[in-house]
Amino acid sequence: MDDLNYGKRDKRGDWVPNGALVTSPLFRLPPQFGKLAGWLPGYFLPWNVGFMVTGVVFWTMLFPPVAEMAKLHWAWVLRILAINLVAVTLFYSALEVPLYLRRRQANRFKYNGKFPGDAPNTAFWFGSQNVEGMLRSLGTGVPIWTAYQCLLGWMAANGYALTVTFTAHPLYLLALGLCVPAWHEFHFYCVHRLIHVPVLYKYIHAVHHNSVNPSPWSSLSMHPLEQALYFSSCLIHLVIPSNPIVALYGLHYAGLGAVVGHIGFDKVEMGEAALDTHAFTHYLHHKYFEVNYGDGLMPLDKLFGSWHDGTAEGDALMQARFKSKVARANR
Ligand SMILES: [Zn+2]
Ligand SMILES: [Zn+2]
Repeated sequence: MDDLNYGKRDKRGDWVPNGALVTSPLFRLPPQFGKLAGWLPGYFLPWNVGFMVTGVVFWTMLFPPVAEMAKLHWAWVLRILAINLVAVTLFYSALEVPLYLRRRQANRFKYNGKFPGDAPNTAFWFGSQNVEGMLRSLGTGVPIWTAYQCLLGWMAANGYALTVTFTAHPLYLLALGLCVPAWHEFHFYCVHRLIHVPVLYKYIHAVHHNSVNPSPWSSLSMHPLEQALYFSSCLIHLVIPSNPIVALYGLHYAGLGAVVGHIGFDKVEMGEAALDTHAFTHYLHHKYFEVNYGDGLMPLDKLFGSWHDGTAEGDALMQARFKSKVARANR
């Protein structure tokens, strides 16, 4: 595919898509039903539906029976940990290996023309963004995610929470499932703004931002405290009527879905077709730090003045914001 039909590349080799990023039509007033209808298929397919399917499959086929989770025991906890470690390794590698190791599509559709693996970087453990990303993701990210998952399983098994069944309330759980991405976005936005407070940024969030040119293993490459905050979105299922599968979908949306914003490519070529990643919004956050704290599903960045739509106008607005911020700090 010729990526120049879809965007342009500058002298440094960085590629930007044509057109401006827009926030989803889901929260626009007045409602734009025509745009919503066109937007929904790309919203659900393939990522969203994929995480719904993994949520169902993991809970019904791979996880220990609910009765077993009623009593905390290392055997079932380690089983869930092993399943999550394998899932993350397979899913992240399915993007990392063809795009970054084999470089199947070279730098076509790649936002940053360079590959992080080409030059050692002392900001990372062992000089490698990839190695640090893998160690942090598998060493603390997945165990923290698993701890939340075990808590949810134990609460469900004991009837303390997550007691709504699909047979009793199918429509409610369907509606709740549809709210999962919006809740994730809202929670992520709030947590993300919090860890950009200078002192928290310095000691916690700077780890994630070392990946200025993010790649799949950057996704959960975070300080353990950020990982704990990031996955805490699942705790809402302990205080509202919910079901373990919906909660698991939320965790997969966060844990597996994190990779989607860090692919670094706008499209993943698949023969003559291509898969849209929608990763540009979060790429701009990694590039410019103080824009796009959310992914644009909700218009929170627009509301609070930190939205960057990827265009030269977006750049000019960002520069003007920075200048007025410096002027305010100097006063
Ligand atoms: Zn990120
Ligand atoms: Zn950030």
